[in-house]
Amino acid sequence: MASPSGDLKLFETLVNSVTIGPGSHDRMEVRAPFTGAVLGALPAARAEDVELAVRSARPAQAQWAERPSRERARIFLRFHDLLVGRQEQALDLIQMESGKARAHAFEEILDTAIAARYYARRAKKFLRPRRRKGALPLLTHTRELRVPLGVAGFITPWNFPLTLGITDAIAALLAGNAAIVKPDPQASFTALWAANLLREAGLPENLLSVVTGDGPVTGQALVDRADYITFTGSNRVGRTIAARAGERLTGCALELGGKNPLLVLRDADLRKAVEGTVRACFVGAGQVCVSTERIYVEEPIFNPFLEALAARTRRLALGAAFDYSMEVGSLTTAAQFARVEEHIRDAVDKGARIVAGGGRRPDLGPLFFEPTVLTGVREGMKVFAEETFGPVVSVYPVASVEEAIERANATDFGLSASIWTRDARKGARIARAIRAGSVNVNEGYSAAWGSIDSPIGGMKASGLRPRHGAEGILKFTESQTIAVQRLIPIAPSFGMSQAFFARWMTRLLRILRWTPWLG
Ligand code: NAD
Repeated sequence: MASPSGDLKLFETLVNSVTIGPGSHDRMEVRAPFTGAVLGALPAARAEDVELAVRSARPAQAQWAERPSRERARIFLRFHDLLVGRQEQALDLIQMESGKARAHAFEEILDTAIAARYYARRAKKFLRPRRRKGALPLLTHTRELRVPLGVAGFITPWNFPLTLGITDAIAALLAGNAAIVKPDPQASFTALWAANLLREAGLPENLLSVVTGDGPVTGQALVDRADYITFTGSNRVGRTIAARAGERLTGCALELGGKNPLLVLRDADLRKAVEGTVRACFVGAGQVCVSTERIYVEEPIFNPFLEALAARTRRLALGAAFDYSMEVGSLTTAAQFARVEEHIRDAVDKGARIVAGGGRRPDLGPLFFEPTVLTGVREGMKVFAEETFGPVVSVYPVASVEEAIERANATDFGLSASIWTRDARKGARIARAIRAGSVNVNEGYSAAWGSIDSPIGGMKASGLRPRHGAEGILKFTESQTIAVQRLIPIAPSFGMSQAFFARWMTRLLRILRWTPWLG
């Protein structure tokens, strides 16, 4: 494995850009999943450091909110260009922190560039004041404004160091907010790199800070101080954050886990379905919120599909390389590695069968695990209903499309789903019956995720308030209605009695009922 040059110096520079106050801080060592080598030691920010970041952000935010949208947008378009131009450095960094394959790291470049361009171009339109109708025609001049919330906090996971480390903050910043990001320690270097790049693109000082640290101390301190919290991570932590935000009456957005189903209908193009399924299951070694963990295949094609899936899975190029030669990379953390092994062991002990993979690969690196396909999975096995968040998928035969839909929906989660069929219209019809925030037809996950003009998030226990589209930026604002009353008040006037006013208004209500163009 060729190691990118100059990396250790880069990590040192990034550590020095963490927002912390004076005094000594505990350090958290971060290791590279590919090798286990130490990349650097991040300072663990305390509550007072977070307080300092919030306090410094407030005056910067007040000035920023006054800047015209076009000026703000220009900075993010410059960021887009810098990111695309320096992608090799970002790719090295993402791979070093996450252990994912380069092609999967590139998806993060793509996604972040798309988000920066989209919101830079569209923010003005989403945020512009809108004329609204008053209670009675002509008498009230009403405008709906979109006001930034102030300082938005972001608590992010380790699986998408760049995408999840920065894209939600981009939308919040463009809406006129300041942003403070608390990334997972295993993804902090990339978040710091992106924040530095934004500063280079022209973002004012103190408007965006990265505070590194653990969840219970640094994350909690941010939840207790920010004017809005966006959390991406596990359901367990998401619930505690929502409760805490609720106590403060602070808004929050939650992007949580899934147990994502994929349906293969009897008329599917087998070759395309297998290829798409392999990508959907093993992208990021399965450590992707929208990756597939359950596959339901109509019985007539169950055996050929399973055989082809197992064969393609065994052929996947697994390994550590800072180029595009590998198809799947490493798991990211030792905890995740242990969870994957535990889920497989539990399933096999209770009667499931491994048809591909199933073993660790210490010859490739400490956290490499073979992409694994299971059959014979039943209720009561951990892998049946719990999110594994690893390269493990269970394949089930189903007698009909109705059974596939019923089983796909038989979960508390509702994040993402995929359907494979030659009849795209039928696929779209079935998609409406699936309770998931995004459903892809003849694609694993990226068609919906990449459709940035449309919101994406979780139904049921998979989340609250989506990202992307208009909702992805408007959630970082509050609405304010300004109504200017003209000529006469909406009350008795000119000596009119209450009774006369009521009669007059009743007549008007009847007129408005039959004149839709007026109200
Ligand atoms: P996690 O919940 O353990 O950690 C996420 C973040 O929360 C980290 O920054 C962590 O330091 C912080 N945190 C932990 N405890 C905290 C606390 N008590 N208070 C405040 N912050 C705290 O999740 P993870 O293991 O890093 O990520 C994996 C999970 O994230 C999976 O369930 C996956 O499905 C989900 N995920 C969802 C999406 C989505 O868009 N829906 C995207 C990526 C990952």
